[in-house]
Amino acid sequence: MTTVPECTGRCCDPVGMSAVQYGAMVATPSDFPDGAQIVAMLTPRDGTSDTFVCANFDSTTARCRIYDVRPQVCVVYPTGGTCPYCGGDGLGR
Ligand code: SF4
Ligand code: SF4
Repeated sequence: MTTVPECTGRCCDPVGMSAVQYGAMVATPSDFPDGAQIVAMLTPRDGTSDTFVCANFDSTTARCRIYDVRPQVCVVYPTGGTCPYCGGDGLGR
């Protein structure tokens, strides 16, 4: 039996995204799947260029507050791979 490590929510705190992509999403959210939702939930972190705070992340429980309606990019992350943070299968919790 394979043991899947507990999800720590690490990929949501902070959220990694290129500043260039974020800027494009802010300019024209309709060009991106769930773009308006993503722009509304993310805030650039002070002093960094590619990391963001997500308003939907509950740091106490390390869980997503809107899990059932989170953006598709959150659903599929990490795309086709193993979670780089918790080593889980990417299904999240
Ligand atoms: S919406 Fe939820 S799953 Fe997506 S980055 Fe925010 S806390 Fe994480
Ligand atoms: S299991 Fe999924 S939600 Fe949890 S840290 Fe890994 S990639 Fe993120």
